[in-house]
Amino acid sequence: MQDKQMLRDRVELLYSNSRPGLLITVIASAGLVFGFSGEASQPQKLIWFGLMMCAVGIRVLDLLRWQRLQTPNPEQGLFNFRFGAIATAVLWAGYCLYFYSTFDIYELASTIIIVSAMAGGAATVLSGDKLTAIAYTQVLLLPYSMQLFIAEQRDIQILGALGFGFAIIMFSVSLRAAQFTLDSLSLRYERDNLLKNMEREVKQRTNEIVELSRLDPLTRLLNRNAFISEFKLCLEQDTEAQYAVVFIDLDGFKPVNDKFGHSTGDEVLETIATRLQVLCDAQTLLCRWGGDEFILLCPVASRDDIDRVAQDIIAKIAQPITTNKHLIKLGASIGVALYPEHGKNISDLVTLADLSMYSRKKDRSQAYVVYDQTLENKLKTELKLSKALDKAIDKAQLRLVFQPIMDAKSESIVAAEALLRWNLDGEAIPPDVFIPIAEQSGAIREIGHWVLDQSMRFAKELERQGFNLKICVNVSIAQFEDPAFVDAVQALIVEHGVNPQLIYLELTESVFSRDKLTLVNAVKGLQALGLHVSIDDFGTGYSSLSIIQDLHVNIVKVDRSFVNNLEENGLAVVRAVMVMAQGMGYKVVAEGVEKAGQAELLRELGVDLLQGYLYSKPLECDDLIESLTDLDKAAV
Ligand code: C2E
Ligand code: CA
Ligand code: CA
Repeated sequence: MQDKQMLRDRVELLYSNSRPGLLITVIASAGLVFGFSGEASQPQKLIWFGLMMCAVGIRVLDLLRWQRLQTPNPEQGLFNFRFGAIATAVLWAGYCLYFYSTFDIYELASTIIIVSAMAGGAATVLSGDKLTAIAYTQVLLLPYSMQLFIAEQRDIQILGALGFGFAIIMFSVSLRAAQFTLDSLSLRYERDNLLKNMEREVKQRTNEIVELSRLDPLTRLLNRNAFISEFKLCLEQDTEAQYAVVFIDLDGFKPVNDKFGHSTGDEVLETIATRLQVLCDAQTLLCRWGGDEFILLCPVASRDDIDRVAQDIIAKIAQPITTNKHLIKLGASIGVALYPEHGKNISDLVTLADLSMYSRKKDRSQAYVVYDQTLENKLKTELKLSKALDKAIDKAQLRLVFQPIMDAKSESIVAAEALLRWNLDGEAIPPDVFIPIAEQSGAIREIGHWVLDQSMRFAKELERQGFNLKICVNVSIAQFEDPAFVDAVQALIVEHGVNPQLIYLELTESVFSRDKLTLVNAVKGLQALGLHVSIDDFGTGYSSLSIIQDLHVNIVKVDRSFVNNLEENGLAVVRAVMVMAQGMGYKVVAEGVEKAGQAELLRELGVDLLQGYLYSKPLECDDLIESLTDLDKAAV
């Protein structure tokens, strides 16, 4: 390839240099033919001139043809050029030899000078081809010099000898000029190739860098930015199509990361990415949105398509993952938003898909959630409540009610659980609705602090009135995880001058899924202040018996669902809790006791404390004080 290119360039050089050469040939031939008056030989000289002009004419045509060609054949070009140039040289040699006898000394000398000058020029002009350059100069000089050398006159012999000498010099000059041309051409090639290679390399590297900046380094899926730009491109290319934005969040990934370490976590994410990629065709975009979140964008024509995509994803993720040490099972929460039905803006669509995913995480009754009007209304309500909740304390919309907790044997009130109530413009919003919203928005920290403050105030008030009642206060995970929590509790105890032994903090079991060390330290800190700690809703979540032991909790509250279900597995749970209670030294409260029969059974099982509608619904502060007073009076 390179040789061919070189040859083409050499032939190109020959042709482009040939223009002045041809012009000089015309001028020199005319000068010799018409410059010297030798009547006798004039007609033959004219014939020769005609022949030379024909040769020049043919060479000019050949030159034009070469220049016109789109893809010239260099071998053919070289052959033509050589033939033309050597034929010209032969004509010159013929001229010198044929007309030699008619030359006087001036014409003879002029001829050898002209021929030598032409040979001198040709040595460099023809440097594109060694053979042509040598043949041209030698054909031009050698025969004529020989002719001169064998002449009888000494002067002419000297001219012949000079001609020979010049021929030898021209031989070497042609050789070197041709070599020089060849060297410079190949040098140029090397430089061009080097440049081309460098260019290619730079391009390749640039492509690699661009590619890397678009990919998530772990999974090699598109990253957020690349996904957004590809998404835009998709929408621009096909404005008619309907797309599903499928937001995927792994269920159970965080515990894997916490328990088995980040390298196992990474392995799991890579496996999931590979599995999801299998589901993608050329029209589908897949990206790692962050952490354990992925987004898939695919064209869909119907709800059936969406269902198929979601079910495929769920099935792929549900397959057990074998890392080199563990067998891991995960689930997927999926939320879907549709373009253009739910929005045309990319970030809106991702937000809606994310919200749908989040709603599926909270309510697992559906396999996946497609954004719709109901969800929109629900989200709007939540947003409205969340905003209103921020002002609830200032607007005095919150209050605490207290539900008595009875000693199982004596059936007297020994404690009361503080339960929060929210009255929003005359409407009672249930805590099951607003507590999760407050936990999500973070408002629970301030609200929880308010609850603790009010509970301690009330505990102090009861103490002041002579009632020795324990107050149980619900504490959310968000509060508990706050590093300043223990100090804040201590400050409140000091502020109210309340006996910390009377305060029981209720933690739901979900805290056990969190970092164990933080949990243990916080509980120890609270217990060091003199407070007690209860485990709420026992049996519903991530019960870990070992952690109950580590924490030395003071009370375990068996969830209402087991009390309601004593005839079936409820009984077994209560029994198990009781067996452990003796070993671990905690007391047991049964929640949600509604029937006398339940109370009877629980008492027989050894449950220490009972709470439920059978005894009392949650009471306003004054009503609780009143019933305590009544009981006191009755006792007297
Ligand atoms: P929880 O801590 O399990 O509170 C007990 C819930 O069961 C209360 O509902 C109570 O009214 C209800 N209950 C009591 N006895 C019976 C019964 O015999 N039958 C039935 N069906 N229900 C009974 P409430 O007041 O609606 O509170 C619901 C949940 O809201 C609480 O569950 C607790 O998790 C949360 N909560 C309430 N107040 C607060 C608070 O101040 N802070 C935090 N973080 N959470 C709170
Ligand atoms: Ca509780
Ligand atoms: Ca409970």
